Formats: sequence, structure tokens, C-alpha cells
Amino acid sequence: MRLLILLLISIHLKGQSIGVLTYGEVPNRTVLITALQKEIKRVYGKEIIEIGVVEIPRRAYYKPRYRYIADMLVNDAARYKGYSSILAITAKDISTDSPNWGICGLAGDYSCVVSMYRTKTIPLFVDVAIHEIGHTIGYNHCRDVSCFMQEYDGTLRVHKKFCDNHKGAK
Ligand SMILES: [Zn+2]
Ligand SMILES: [Zn+2]
Repeated sequence: MRLLILLLISIHLKGQSIGVLTYGEVPNRTVLITALQKEIKRVYGKEIIEIGVVEIPRRAYYKPRYRYIADMLVNDAARYKGYSSILAITAKDISTDSPNWGICGLAGDYSCVVSMYRTKTIPLFVDVAIHEIGHTIGYNHCRDVSCFMQEYDGTLRVHKKFCDNHKGAK
């Protein structure tokens, strides 16, 4: 009985938490995860659960540009079921079609991927992660330049907050 209760509690916690999957080696990973954890807690009121480090899927490699196809990574990360959302992180360059654009992050309706390759700094990386997680919970783009959901306009910014339209829905 006690075991069953513990199991039910852990399933419940998992369903409330963001699963974080690491593709390949990510420099300063511990610092990065701590920064992510803090901001995800502040913004979404959620904990993260580390799924671990896995090899980045070779089939997602796009050789002509030395990039990984983000759409395939988003699909791959969705294999890990039962979390509130999945955030996959990588230091590799990622891209989407077409043509093959290099991007910072991409989201589906459950999982998303964010790359350190273009964001470079931890605050920008964390900001993109908050944006992509927003997509996984159904947030659309926004014209407010101070909102996390601002549509990318060629300039990476740290936003710090949601606008009034995006606030509240978790
Ligand atoms: Zn977006
Ligand atoms: Zn907004």
C-alpha cells in the first residue's frame, strides 16, 4: 500500500513537471540546468525532472549544413511520455526546413528543443527555453517585444515576463 501511494505520488509529480532531456555533451550543463530550473519555477511554477543525457539521433543530422533537423529532435523527444512537457537541450546547431534555417529553438505540442549554438549565453538560452515551453502549452506568438512569446525578429532578447494576454495560463 505504501509503495502504491509513493508510486502514485511520483506519477503525479512527473505529470506536473517538465522533463529535461540532454542531447549529447553540453558545456556547463550543471549551471545551465540550475538556471533553467530556477526560471521554469519562477515563470511556470513547475519543477523539472532530468531524464538524462542521450546521444543525439544520427538520423536527424543534415550533413550539407552540419546541423541537426530540429523537427526530428522534437519528435524524438516526445518518446518520453507522462511529463507536462519535454524540453530537449543541445549544444549542436539545429535547423528547420525549408530552406534549411539555423534556429535557436523549435516546439511541437508536447516537446521542444533548444540549442546553445546560437543563443550562446545562459540568459538567452533560458529565455528561448521559456518561449518554446510556452508553445508546448498552447501559447501563440505575440507582438509585444517585452513578452516571452514575442515572435523572433532577428534580435535575441531576454524578456523576463509574459504580456497580459499570456499571463496566468499555465
Ligand atoms: Zn515561437
Ligand atoms: Zn505575449
